[in-house]
Amino acid sequence: MNCLECQKELKDGELNEALVAYQVPLCSKHKKRLDGLIKDHNTPVEAIQLYYGLKQADISPMLEWWNGKRSVDIAISRAKLNIIIDTEYDQMTQEEAISDLEHTMHSFKNGFTTIRIPHTLVKHYLLETVQNIIGIVEGIKANVRAI
Ligand SMILES: [Zn+2]
Repeated sequence: MNCLECQKELKDGELNEALVAYQVPLCSKHKKRLDGLIKDHNTPVEAIQLYYGLKQADISPMLEWWNGKRSVDIAISRAKLNIIIDTEYDQMTQEEAISDLEHTMHSFKNGFTTIRIPHTLVKHYLLETVQNIIGIVEGIKANVRAI
């Protein structure tokens, strides 16, 4: 198996380490880079899985993209699409929910669409989730052309 970032062939130990942590094959260098990113941003593991799922579908996603106000789990810049992985629907307070809605509103004013995906969807329906996001990206691009 090869590293999904650099295509380098993996040694046995490397493969296990990354697969156990993120369920994606990565070399030691790229696993370490991801470990650092997750530590800094508290990135959910499902965001990593979705990121690599989209990457393999040739979507060119960006992980932990800084939009000027906050870090977005995944962004697809050519479609101006932000993807947020929801990990704790139930625990969200009203204050968090309104700040979230405001963020969505500001992004929208800047031409960005924000979609929220429950983490369990990525866990259990990764392929379908990727397929739907591809459809959304195509839909956005078609609408932008129409305007
Ligand atoms: Zn690598």
